[in-house]
Amino acid sequence: MLAYLDHHATTPCDPAVVAAMAPWWSEHCANPASRLYRPALEAAAAVERARDQLARVLGSSAETVIFTSGATEANNLAIKGVCEAAMAAGKPRRRLVSLVSEHRAVLDPLAYLGRHGFPVSLVPIQPDGLVDLAQLEAALGDDVLLLSVMAANNEIGVLQPLAAIAALCQRWGVLLHVDAAQAAGHIPLAMNAMGIDLLSLSGHKFYGPKGVGALLVRPRLQLAAQLHGGVQQDGRRAGTLPVPLVVGLGEALLGAEADREERTGRLGGLRDQLWEDLRKLGGVELNGAGAPRLAHNLNVTVKGVDGNQLHRLLRSQLAVSSGSACSQGSPSHVLAALGRSRAEAAASIRFGLGRSSGAEEITLATAAVGAAVRELR
Ligand SMILES: *Cc1c(COP(=O)(O)O)cnc(C)c1O
Repeated sequence: MLAYLDHHATTPCDPAVVAAMAPWWSEHCANPASRLYRPALEAAAAVERARDQLARVLGSSAETVIFTSGATEANNLAIKGVCEAAMAAGKPRRRLVSLVSEHRAVLDPLAYLGRHGFPVSLVPIQPDGLVDLAQLEAALGDDVLLLSVMAANNEIGVLQPLAAIAALCQRWGVLLHVDAAQAAGHIPLAMNAMGIDLLSLSGHKFYGPKGVGALLVRPRLQLAAQLHGGVQQDGRRAGTLPVPLVVGLGEALLGAEADREERTGRLGGLRDQLWEDLRKLGGVELNGAGAPRLAHNLNVTVKGVDGNQLHRLLRSQLAVSSGSACSQGSPSHVLAALGRSRAEAAASIRFGLGRSSGAEEITLATAAVGAAVRELR
């Protein structure tokens, strides 16, 4: 048996979501932008329903939901779209601020903008994975256009203090973008109430389909389109809407919200059990210790073993990761930011529990890591 414990990389699509998507592939195939006949209007209505679902769960307004191909595109649209719009409007603010522990889908667009006249300041994180608010505020200023901070880290699950960060942004007149790819459907989020200006999410991180996500934007925020080619979505994102995926995205978020409290309570218990079992092996350290974390995340560094050999021994029994699925090969920049060496980062294991995880997976994980450690030490 291979225990799937890599739910930060992706989650299985909920069968109820697959069923909700089913009629929209062939039976109801009309293009929602066609508008002149009934099936097209029905497709458009299904898209609007999904907008409402997202806005309702995330405390935002439906007219500002922009569907994208995932969180990578949503992050690119948010960050580049804000910069281009500010430039077009002749606004003087240019600097972009973010954290060293962000996902590549934020760091890479920032690096791109850094080469195109938008200086970037990356703020370090503390050994527990949290940003120091005084250090963050020191990086802000009246030249700063946008701060991008992830709600929940995809490797160590650490939850940044969004309310306090939003307050700093308001004080300095800085726009706040939140990459919520790991947070939506997993922790409560209320975009408007929390003072978030732009929020990215991805369907396949909360039991929805791959290839669809969204950027939620505060009303009246100026955003330059990054895909040109049509007037879909008010010209903010051209391209025919993938109706089945959009329907699945809305259903998945509703479904994830419906069992969120029960699921996080149950998975938090299993996760704590896994940690108690692993620490008994000795020489196992928790990454993100002391910080608030996602209930289904556990990231540990195993001392005194070679990372490649450790993961080679685990791979037949456990689907786990040593870092992010998106940075194959290179050592984790997040674990490095916590102070881990290259060797320590390689000898780290990220467990991501999910709906299908039970006591059996925890027992198997403990046994597999225990056997590997005994063989390698
Ligand atoms: C998965 C993930 C992304 C990218 O999402 P895609 O749907 O693969 O584009 C971005 N940011 C974070 C934090 C993620 O976990």
